[in-house]
Amino acid sequence: MNKIEHLGIAVRNIEESAIIYEKLLGSACYKLEEVQSEGVKTAFFQIGDSKIELLQATNDESPIAKFIAKKGPGIHHIAFDVSDIQSEIKRLQAEGFELIHQTPKDGADNKIIAFLHPKSTDGILVELCQEKR
Ligand code: ZN
Repeated sequence: MNKIEHLGIAVRNIEESAIIYEKLLGSACYKLEEVQSEGVKTAFFQIGDSKIELLQATNDESPIAKFIAKKGPGIHHIAFDVSDIQSEIKRLQAEGFELIHQTPKDGADNKIIAFLHPKSTDGILVELCQEKR
């Protein structure tokens, strides 16, 4: 794994939270994007080499809606940048980690992604992401 690519933060209202994060980070959101397959709207901020991804649910079945109902707004996942997502998935499966996605799928911000189940990572939802080439 190369670096922490971004932290995903679940929010109730992405427009209101984006204003808070623009003030906090002193930089503007550089991308707003909806990912229909995940039922989320996202807003991205660059912070040095890493990013902050705000996530708002677009329907009640969205994983973000379920997360907020259970835990409230807050840190939802850590995303690691990887060079070859297929070989990372194989490596992590061999190490005994449970993958939510065994086959990578399209994510926001020009990435292909896969999530690890938090029960195999001490309670943290982990996202692998590889830049689309
Ligand atoms: Zn993410």
